[in-house]
Amino acid sequence: MIALTAAALLTPQQQIEQPLLLLEGGKVAEVTSSAAREIPTGCRTFNFPGAVLAPAYLDIHIHGGAGHDVMEPSEDGLSRFEGFLAQHGVAAYLPTTVTAPEDHILRALEWLAKRIEDTAATARARPLGIHLEGPFLSHTRRGVHPPENLVAPTLARFERYWQAAQGHIRIMTIAPEVDGALEVIAEASRRGVCCSLGHSDSDLSTARAAIAAGAHHATHTFNAMRPLDHRQPGLLGAILTDGRVTADIIADGIHLDPSVVQLFLRAKGTKAAVLITDAISATGMPEGRYRLGSFEVEVRGNECTSDGKLAGSVLRLDQAVRNVMQFAGWTLQQTVQLASANPAAVIGEKSKGVIAAGADADLVVLSPRGEVQKTILGGTVSE
Ligand SMILES: [Zn+2]
Repeated sequence: MIALTAAALLTPQQQIEQPLLLLEGGKVAEVTSSAAREIPTGCRTFNFPGAVLAPAYLDIHIHGGAGHDVMEPSEDGLSRFEGFLAQHGVAAYLPTTVTAPEDHILRALEWLAKRIEDTAATARARPLGIHLEGPFLSHTRRGVHPPENLVAPTLARFERYWQAAQGHIRIMTIAPEVDGALEVIAEASRRGVCCSLGHSDSDLSTARAAIAAGAHHATHTFNAMRPLDHRQPGLLGAILTDGRVTADIIADGIHLDPSVVQLFLRAKGTKAAVLITDAISATGMPEGRYRLGSFEVEVRGNECTSDGKLAGSVLRLDQAVRNVMQFAGWTLQQTVQLASANPAAVIGEKSKGVIAAGADADLVVLSPRGEVQKTILGGTVSE
């Protein structure tokens, strides 16, 4: 058994001062405090004075990092990328595909499905399933997704992706106003896929129909959506007011003005707001030209563009947490939920994103300002 002590622990819904955390067999065995219980004899003990223990993060929208694009079938590349994620407090992620020719997407899904089924323990972040971003998107709000590869959603097409992914599609970003979308949303939802509204020019009533059909999340809210109009609020009117809908944002200070991040957080609160990175292969690499799926992106500073449009980010999730604390004045305890418990809830993952007896022992050791000091995956504490 392993015992951990620190200044505080975030479950993350609650904060425990002077916690004592016991881990066994890769799981959390007990969450208690040093005042309530002595360290059991025979425990290997690790003390993190002044630090905060939190659930390790989940990134449900990420295309790559450390020079690797997740659609590229390279074992070494993916392992390097997953090691990079772990350094930034991320325990689990959904490799996210972009719009590409169908055979390119199918090959990527097949390869990623094999990696997902390989459950051998590693010190790297784990892929839990796939986020299919495109090809069922709006031409008007496609962002940088190649227009020639956008297609209308049909049950037959969805079935091909589903089979290639061996059922490992966990999120599908879809524009609800495209012909055939509502039928595909209903069927995908029935199979347990989180249908996420995005890359969309939808009006309010179509957005509501999609939610009635089973959609319950929104992809990079405000970006690649019809802007909020006070008489014709569109998709954003539904996302920001419907309590059943969770929604994510890219809080890199580039995709959204900090005041819009504040507005979003007031609308969605600590339970329904989610942080993603939408990071691409260039993340953690020098400036230059990088691949995103089947096209090239130019990276300068923290800005990724293709044809003058924003094309993903080089954001890391631990930085997104610190940005939200700064942009909105939220506490670490409030903000950590947006990168842990909330994304886990979006995909129905019960054993991650929380520190509770029986949950996976995936933890991040943070400074009070949210800097990552150590990431503990599967209960393994490196010296
Ligand atoms: Zn994306």
